[in-house]
Amino acid sequence: MVPLTPRQLLDRLVGFPTVSRLSNLDLIDWLEGYLASHGIAAHRHWNEDRSKAALFGHVGPLVEGAVVLSGHSDVVPVEGQTWTTDPWTVTERDGRLYGRGTCDMKGYVALAIWTLVEGQRRGLSTPLQLALSYDEELGCTGAPPMIAAMQGVVPKGGAVIVGEPSRMDLITGHKGGTGYHVHVKGYEVHSSLLPYGVSAIMDGARLIGCANDQNAVLQALVPTPAAARFVPPFTTLHVGMIQGGTAHNITAADCRFAVEMRVIPGEDIAALEARFRAEAARLDAAIKAARPEAGVTLDHFFGVPALRPEKDGVAEALVRRLTGANTSGVVSYGTEAGQFQEAGYSAVVCGPGDIAQAHQPDEFLDLSEFHAGHRFMENLLDALA
Ligand SMILES: [Zn+2]
Repeated sequence: MVPLTPRQLLDRLVGFPTVSRLSNLDLIDWLEGYLASHGIAAHRHWNEDRSKAALFGHVGPLVEGAVVLSGHSDVVPVEGQTWTTDPWTVTERDGRLYGRGTCDMKGYVALAIWTLVEGQRRGLSTPLQLALSYDEELGCTGAPPMIAAMQGVVPKGGAVIVGEPSRMDLITGHKGGTGYHVHVKGYEVHSSLLPYGVSAIMDGARLIGCANDQNAVLQALVPTPAAARFVPPFTTLHVGMIQGGTAHNITAADCRFAVEMRVIPGEDIAALEARFRAEAARLDAAIKAARPEAGVTLDHFFGVPALRPEKDGVAEALVRRLTGANTSGVVSYGTEAGQFQEAGYSAVVCGPGDIAQAHQPDEFLDLSEFHAGHRFMENLLDALA
């Protein structure tokens, strides 16, 4: 296959509607074939029901210390959004590339694939790897099994560049995250008999109240120097969805909501979670004392480690050299960089596009950002030659 340009690669990638709830196998099949046609043997790591796969590949000498270009194949849905272009076709207009995933993060993935193939064609003295995950948008659940699968199949990489949109700024830290689905099971009675039933909603509200109280405590703390770099400069708890109840005059049989916590690097996620679980256990016991069949259950649905700024980090030094950056930043959203770091890699975030355009209707990537990413990859190829 003739090598495709970054722009042609982006067109191909956006054409696969790899929304997280759907399979990404069409994209993976195509990419595996494309890489194979350039002599690059890629490896798959399947999810449990084999509906999706991660793909990783290695070019250059079979030694440790590769630069790892890391991205995710999935995108968020378009349902309920008003698009003025076809989300699954790249539309160029006014210096922007419109399409679902152009910004988050198929633009970077296109550049990474291009770089891998170029590296293979030009020959490298330092190896390069591509790591493409799935289910990132569901809470970064696809990367850890992929990272585990990479061990022993390809030599361990050294510096990981996660290309989430950062306007090509160097990001050395991000908050960690963790999330729980909460189900409060109540007991239905006529609301006039409230004390003899259990309102799942009113008891759920107690737990949400604990999250509010916790926020007030966290917000009142004087930020540590590490925390002061973040916006906001403290850990937050958030409830983004809730459902429950059937009528104003029936105590609610069920209340479900999701709590997520965004945690400053260096702060103790486990302790924060333990406090929340203890509150839930207390509430569960109180409910069960009234109605043994009712209670509270928690389902931990995601956990993403924070990215801690590294002392003399290899990945940071590399990106500084490639971009000329002499400053670094931190962000409040989670990425797979924290997961690579937890697995023993040096990791940073640096990618084209602005996070403000991610997940939006008419998502776009500025052409200037795409070109900046291309220059970055050219510099990387020179550095690895
Ligand atoms: Zn992303």
